[in-house]
Amino acid sequence: MELAYLKGIGPKRLKLLAQMGIESTEDLLLHYPRRYEDRTQLHKLGELQDGQVATCAVTIVSVTEQRPRAGLHLLKAGVRDESGAGVATWFNQPFMKGRLTQGKTIILTGKARRQYGRLEILAQDMEPVDEAPDDETVNYGKLIPVYPSSAGLQQKLFRQAIAQILTTDCPLHEYYPDAFLINHGLMGRESAIEAVHIPKTWDELDKARERLIFDEFFFLQLSLAMMRDKDVRSEGISHQYQGSLTEPWVGQLPFALTRAQERVIGEVREDMGRPYAMARLVQGDVGSGKTAVAAWALLLAVENGYQGAIMAPTEILAQQHFETLSAWFGPLGVQVGYFAGGAQQKEARAQREALAAGTIQVAVGTHALIQEKTVFHRLGLAIIDEQHRFGVRQRTLLQEKGDHPDILIMSATPIPRTLALTVYGDLDVSRLDEMPPGRMPVQTLCILEKAREKLFHFLRQQLDMGHQAFVVCPLIEESEALDLQNAEDVYRLIGDKLRPYRAGLLHGRMSSGEKDEVMRGFAEGDTRILVSTTVVEVGVNVPAATVMVVENSERFGLAQLHQLRGRVGRGDRQSYCILVTNTDDAIALQRLKLMTETNDGFLLAEEDLVLRGPGELFGARQHGLPAFRMARLPEDMRIMEQARQAALDMIHADHELTQPQHRELRREIDEKMTEIARN
Ligand code: ADP
Ligand code: MG
Repeated sequence: MELAYLKGIGPKRLKLLAQMGIESTEDLLLHYPRRYEDRTQLHKLGELQDGQVATCAVTIVSVTEQRPRAGLHLLKAGVRDESGAGVATWFNQPFMKGRLTQGKTIILTGKARRQYGRLEILAQDMEPVDEAPDDETVNYGKLIPVYPSSAGLQQKLFRQAIAQILTTDCPLHEYYPDAFLINHGLMGRESAIEAVHIPKTWDELDKARERLIFDEFFFLQLSLAMMRDKDVRSEGISHQYQGSLTEPWVGQLPFALTRAQERVIGEVREDMGRPYAMARLVQGDVGSGKTAVAAWALLLAVENGYQGAIMAPTEILAQQHFETLSAWFGPLGVQVGYFAGGAQQKEARAQREALAAGTIQVAVGTHALIQEKTVFHRLGLAIIDEQHRFGVRQRTLLQEKGDHPDILIMSATPIPRTLALTVYGDLDVSRLDEMPPGRMPVQTLCILEKAREKLFHFLRQQLDMGHQAFVVCPLIEESEALDLQNAEDVYRLIGDKLRPYRAGLLHGRMSSGEKDEVMRGFAEGDTRILVSTTVVEVGVNVPAATVMVVENSERFGLAQLHQLRGRVGRGDRQSYCILVTNTDDAIALQRLKLMTETNDGFLLAEEDLVLRGPGELFGARQHGLPAFRMARLPEDMRIMEQARQAALDMIHADHELTQPQHRELRREIDEKMTEIARN
């Protein structure tokens, strides 16, 4: 059935629905309610006792505003239902005025007070409703779903359209075998869809939600399990330890490897030695020395007569790796080549020829490495730095430059172990959980905006000492124009206050070439302050930068703030991270306080996961986690683990899902995999 055939949906609403991504009846059924209004427990105004806290459906008959004295604002709404009338009062919440419209029905929760026969309600909470609760046009129970919606689309429309689809034919069918449903205690798919839209009881709703959340996790886990299974069973290169390059390299390093580096190198060594393709994630806080681990692994590949590659998300990062690796490998006679968009035509061709011929043994570059014209002679190890900046597709493309090369992914995002298991279920994880010695921890301070003058004073002192500073402005709106304006204001103010020191401005509207240029100006010290809207390029090394100022810092996740903080403190000078805020939200302030108390990225990540969910943790949409429609993390972690185990068991028993009872699942997963690959 098509959406257009549903009663009440004409061309205009079709368009509005399409704008919300709803283009079919399936989409509409998968448009889950945001919450439910419990009308099973509604009270009547006429029955409320003095002192009782209760919820009522009432109609607003009047709204008045009073200011009896300074500092006291009263908003009073006359309210009524069929049993009686009263006055609802809001103390010092002038903003509520816009939500109280005469003639509208609201669900009001508050504490009743009866005096001289008059009823007053001290409002605690209110929800607007689209229609009177006794509207029985759709035969709903008393748990009323409330859908995410947009202007012009009424709640009633969703309820009616969905009821129509469900009474004719649910287009979403079961894909699990019966035995699977029983084993995992899952509600059938069609029943679950129906119960989520038209729940009869909270219990039924819980079961339905559990089933649908399970599905979301299960397909994620199933695709991870299939990828992993393929890797594990596919043959690969066995890189045997020779020591001909790795050993002299370790010997010539100006520092001793940390114990964590030794351990992770050991894990990589063992893994690369096995005759199948390695797929390993090295996680380590900014500055924990991931590059050294990468260098060791690259040399192991070269020792074995293979080539190695390392891909970074930006030119400036690739350039830094190139410089480091050239300095390390040059003395060993290992040829390092650089591959990025910027190079001269002729030079670039010569480089590519050398790579194809095998003269270049280690290739460092940007996504230029995965271009079609880039051909390796014998790629044995592919390393991807800061992987959340790349999609799964890029990883696959690099992998395909060789014949089952080993893959190493390096990430500075501290991911809690629970989540790492599930997000990177297709990878083995190594952790660099120790910092090289002698590094001074960054001092973190939180200041209020009104102390800004002090901040300028402090910044000037630092600049006078020859140091540099980052100033980061958050994404305030989903609008680049506004963000830009905000950053430009800060940029102008800073340039003005800190004259004659020069500032640079980096924002999302610049081309990557322009960004690189601004970054380079800062890295080389031409500009001493860098103001940016976007998160400063992950991993950039500017040792003279000693101050990181974060504007509106309450808008960032803790893990993100921690990443930003990692941009400074890379030299041997005392560095500072200054979190500017003007929030008075207690929780926000508590989060910022935590930043001033610990430098442990994993601890902050755990905290973030609890406080703000995984989306925030990874930064919007960068995390490779699909956007879940219904599931919430970490609350639904238990279901995630159940789904993971179920997926592993299934793939173990039927690697390619070719058994007949898995036919529907196979179809579904193929569709989803194509979707993932496209992103
Ligand atoms: P990240 O993990 O952020 O990529 P890098 O590999 O860039 O960190 O290392 C940060 C800095 O620490 C570099 O200057 C590097 O040379 C140095 N470094 C790495 N390992 C050690 C060590 N074991 N002892 C001292 N310094 C080290
Ligand atoms: Mg790095």
